[in-house]
Amino acid sequence: MSNKTRVLVTGAGGFIGSHLVKHLKEKGYWVRGVDIKRPEFGDTAADEFLDLDLRRWENCLSATEGIDEVYALAADMGGMGFISAHHAQILYNNSLINLHTLEAARENGAKRYLYTSSACVYPEHLQEDANVVPLKESDVYPAYPQDAYGWEKLISERLCMHYREDYGIETRTVRFHNIFGEEGTWDGGREKVPAAMCRKIARAKLLGDPTIEIWGDGEQTRSFCYIADCVEGIYRLMRSDHHEPLNLGQDRMISINELADIVANIAGIEISKKHVDGPQGVRGRNSDNTLLREVLGWEPKLSLEDGLAITYRWIEDQVRADMLAKGELSSAVAS
Ligand code: NAD
Repeated sequence: MSNKTRVLVTGAGGFIGSHLVKHLKEKGYWVRGVDIKRPEFGDTAADEFLDLDLRRWENCLSATEGIDEVYALAADMGGMGFISAHHAQILYNNSLINLHTLEAARENGAKRYLYTSSACVYPEHLQEDANVVPLKESDVYPAYPQDAYGWEKLISERLCMHYREDYGIETRTVRFHNIFGEEGTWDGGREKVPAAMCRKIARAKLLGDPTIEIWGDGEQTRSFCYIADCVEGIYRLMRSDHHEPLNLGQDRMISINELADIVANIAGIEISKKHVDGPQGVRGRNSDNTLLREVLGWEPKLSLEDGLAITYRWIEDQVRADMLAKGELSSAVAS
């Protein structure tokens, strides 16, 4: 398929960005990827990849030069452990990235701009119960996100709204609910809960020690959406004429204890959960997908079990290779 549209994916070295680049290439687009790092788990599929720090205005101008459509994914982010401990850094870095990228896209004449927001924009007081009412897009105001990460996302959502109204650039805003999958960060402090759970259970399996640490009592709830559905949803939103923020996630809510049980079942081991102190984020969160279904005529499809099975197998391979390299495992045990 050939398509003359030139698109930019920022954050193309990251988890969702690297998958999105592949998806857009399959659709026939010419793709420029930009990031401060290259994809960790394989080559980029982009036609061109620029190593640029998007906090800097002149780099944003270079990144958006000659570009028709921007998918803005670059962000300083991570799981709950990272987000709850780096408020100033996140607010500063992400504000600069998003202010400069959107203004540079406008100056360079981009026609469409998709901004990746987060369920972290929703007010904390609507998420205090594990059996939470699913969050619909209009619940966001009056605003009271839990962390600086969510406050910045909210301001950037508004920036997109005003740029569309004042300058006519067609902006789209997606609010992700916990995206997971293979080829994402699984270790080092920025990983999110599905990847961390797969890593802990893979280690338990390979070491023959069934104990898994879980932050808090494990009764906090979330919904999780597999990466292939995420990139399809992003693409459909960009092509739609819906310019208000839209949830993108699954609406099946489970507790973190249940997540551990599903992953253990995939790994084929019995686990023993040890609940320890740690950041848990809001008590409960789920996506209301009514508007998503209405606007896109579509919603994420892959079951949590199937998505986690693909993810677990990939992470178990990473963990095994890492343990072998560190001498934590003999090749006889690993095989
Ligand atoms: P990620 O951390 O894997 O990717 C973000 C990328 O942005 C990284 O590769 C990082 O190097 C890059 N980046 C950071 N600072 C930069 C800078 N100054 N200049 C250029 N690039 C920079 O995260 P992800 O999971 O792929 O998330 C993509 C987007 O989706 C982010 O905006 C994130 O906030 C949002 N989001 C993700 C989730 C999720 O569940 N993964 C949930 C809600 C929102």
